[in-house]
Amino acid sequence: MCQPSSLVDIQATIVQIQPLSADVSIISLDCPAIAKTAKPGNFVNIKVNSATQPLLRRPFSIHNVRESIIEIMVKSIGIGTALLCNTSAGSTVMVLGPLGNSFDVTSKPFHTAVLVSGGIGTAPMLFLEQTLTAHGKTVVNLVGGRTKNDLLTHNLSNCHSATDDGSAGFKGTIIDLLAHKLPELLANGEIKIFACGPHQMLKALAQFCHQHHLTCDLSLESMMGCGIGICYGCSVTLHSSDGVTKNILLCREGAVIDAESFVD
Ligand SMILES: Cc1cc2nc3c(=O)[nH]c(=O)nc-3n(C[C@H](O)[C@H](O)[C@H](O)COP(=O)(O)OP(=O)(O)OC[C@H]3O[C@@H](n4cnc5c(N)ncnc54)[C@H](O)[C@@H]3O)c2cc1C
Repeated sequence: MCQPSSLVDIQATIVQIQPLSADVSIISLDCPAIAKTAKPGNFVNIKVNSATQPLLRRPFSIHNVRESIIEIMVKSIGIGTALLCNTSAGSTVMVLGPLGNSFDVTSKPFHTAVLVSGGIGTAPMLFLEQTLTAHGKTVVNLVGGRTKNDLLTHNLSNCHSATDDGSAGFKGTIIDLLAHKLPELLANGEIKIFACGPHQMLKALAQFCHQHHLTCDLSLESMMGCGIGICYGCSVTLHSSDGVTKNILLCREGAVIDAESFVD
């Protein structure tokens, strides 16, 4: 998991806002300097307007990169995300990035990448899938949601879904689906899991990967302020294999972590 080499804070024009559902939109931002250096797993920290409220920026994973454009997938859950989703194309926002480390797609050999996501945790998976495909990996997406309305499979390929209520796809959690598919996924050789989603889902997945000796990168979320390690607002407690706990700043040493350090 590598740190990005270049960081910029730029005034970016919103090129397009594409609603995917009642509360989720894809927002395209013209950010050539970020698009050029972004890696999957990186995020940006956005000042959603020029007013003093909300004061803090809001972090979003980089969903896709197209030439000079970066796309973010935003779920409207509060003041900042609602403002962003209701902004018009042509307006500008301040975008700081690329931030954080990135998913590790190269250091260990594996045949199949299994991308496990839940809810808005699907946001970083398109960029990751494209990068893995460019590295010659087979990619399988497992996408979970509480109901079919929570599934975000936008533009992902080779996608299998699970819903808690069985309204679409496999009935059960995304971990149940992974367990069900594991023999088939392992049939072609080593696999590596990449995941993003709600805290409890990632906790359960870390435990599952530990039990089955699977390598897994998790992209975590936390409350976050500055995004650059100054405010200490995103401290997360992790564990090392010898039982020692340590606190990291998710904005600098994450948001991608080794799942083994997330096992309680
Ligand atoms: C590294 C990282 C990447 C992220 N990527 C995405 C993404 O790609 N797409 C996306 O839609 N969201 C993403 N998020 C979450 C997003 O940043 C928050 O939803 C957003 O900051 C909420 O702002 P708001 O002003 O709308 O909510 P607020 O009005 O500030 O809060 C509304 C409610 O949401 C809760 N809340 C706020 N922020 C978070 C958070 N980070 N985690 C859990 N609960 C929160 C608050 O406690 C409150 O209950 C990411 C977060 C991090 C840390």
